[in-house]
Amino acid sequence: MPGLVALYILPFPAGETHSLTQGNCGAESHSGRFRYAFDFRMPPGTSIVAARGGTVVVVRDDRPDDTGRVGDENLVMIEHPDGHLSRYIHLASHGARVVEGDRVAAGDTIALSGNSGRSAFPHLHFDVADRCGRDGCRTIPAAFRNADPPVPIGRGPVEARSPEAP
Ligand SMILES: [Zn+2]
Repeated sequence: MPGLVALYILPFPAGETHSLTQGNCGAESHSGRFRYAFDFRMPPGTSIVAARGGTVVVVRDDRPDDTGRVGDENLVMIEHPDGHLSRYIHLASHGARVVEGDRVAAGDTIALSGNSGRSAFPHLHFDVADRCGRDGCRTIPAAFRNADPPVPIGRGPVEARSPEAP
């Protein structure tokens, strides 16, 4: 997204390539409040890293894998210094590697990917929200400074390059 300051890195380790299967405004489910979201197809158990530094504010990883049910999503949420929240959803059952209150830096491993909740195939749903309320979170545009090719643009494989020091 031209002009958008790239505050985030891709939520998977540098050197790995995963396919963006649904980007911003994707027809399957990225509309309304979920408009600015990304789905990356990846094998269950892939390390998920913090896309930006902050404080872990939500960890839920007690739901079973592969139920396909809304509400069974395992997830981690991190709050950043500007109050924005990054969300990592469909994580593996018992896949969290952080607890609420932990401080993390960009690139720290926070969880293992999975296929929990309403998910048609193993993937990570990643988005950034500016506020969350009773009826959910409102996503906002986010750009990645280590994505090759840059996303959000279309679909297909995206490689995480080594991010330069922040
Ligand atoms: Zn999604």
